[in-house]
Amino acid sequence: MYAVFEDEVPYIEEFANRTGHEIVQETDYLSEKNVDLAAGFDAVVTQQTVNIPDMVYSRLAELGIRQISIRQVGYDILNIDAIHKAGLRASNVAAYSPRAIAEYTLTQLLNLIRNNKRYYQATESGNWLWSAAPQGKEIHDLTVAVIGAGRIGSALAEMLHVLGAKVLAVDPVYHAQNEAFLDYTNLDDALKRADVITFHTPLNKQTNGMADKDFFQKVKKNAYILNFARGGIIQTSALLENLRSGKLAGAALDVLPNGTEFMGKIQNPDKLPADVQELMSRDNVLLSPHVAFYTNLAVKNMVEIALNDAIALSQGKHIENEILY
Ligand code: NAD
Repeated sequence: MYAVFEDEVPYIEEFANRTGHEIVQETDYLSEKNVDLAAGFDAVVTQQTVNIPDMVYSRLAELGIRQISIRQVGYDILNIDAIHKAGLRASNVAAYSPRAIAEYTLTQLLNLIRNNKRYYQATESGNWLWSAAPQGKEIHDLTVAVIGAGRIGSALAEMLHVLGAKVLAVDPVYHAQNEAFLDYTNLDDALKRADVITFHTPLNKQTNGMADKDFFQKVKKNAYILNFARGGIIQTSALLENLRSGKLAGAALDVLPNGTEFMGKIQNPDKLPADVQELMSRDNVLLSPHVAFYTNLAVKNMVEIALNDAIALSQGKHIENEILY
């Protein structure tokens, strides 16, 4: 298992004890430099943001390995054609815990509508007045548009419905069972009616830069925008323009288009890109470092599902998470 983080170790050891498989851990990510460490093993697993070079797949095949399994949802780090050419099979973990991301989105949404950043900042500087922030809002009184009602979006929609919010969904794929807690509509109608807009789509041709100047023109005054999916969906310049003008009441972002430049590292705030510094300086913007997934259950599931799938693939079995060509 490559690219092992400290907090994965207990789950790896537990899995090894329970199943009797020997799992050898390597902290570095899988690359041409360390692929030979896999010699003598039956299966490999990794989790990384760095692309896996093509020679790694052919080398794994030479070592007698039949698969490559990753512990994450996004598999843009893999070259599926090269994997196929090398005769390997591949798997990701398509759903380690949609609720982890949904719950964190809900947490930040409630923080936004109660102006918590302002109150934290005010009380820390000695201001204990109610008027340190405007009046809060109550979730059951709001209409929320969920853009992308897949695993995460529908988990969030269900939570919001239980809390009494009106939930609208925009998604080209219709799931009849979701009608119990949301109303499907089109994008223009959702933007016209929603007090809160939250993105849960993949980054693709249609969603890349989707929240642009025109998009924000269609949004209601005082709407809140949340992005817990992929940074590229929102154009930061258009978002900032609408925050500056006061059209938007606030935003919560777990991902940013230029996030890979600075996320996952210790940063000097003054050296961050200017647009990120401006977002940070706003008391109605909540930022987080792509942590919506980061819970005990999600990490446990990522480890266990990926290991289980790696073993099954190495034994030539069928699995749901196989990435098909
Ligand atoms: P999913 O595939 O189950 O759902 C995505 C939904 O978006 C699908 O129903 C799809 O039909 C819909 N969709 C696609 N294009 C659309 C469009 N143009 N307009 C509206 N809807 C559209 O995926 P999921 O597991 O719910 O994940 C959603 C996103 O969350 C992914 O981009 C994923 O990378 C991201 N994510 C973020 C974190 C985090 O920690 N912040 C963790 C995991 C996943």
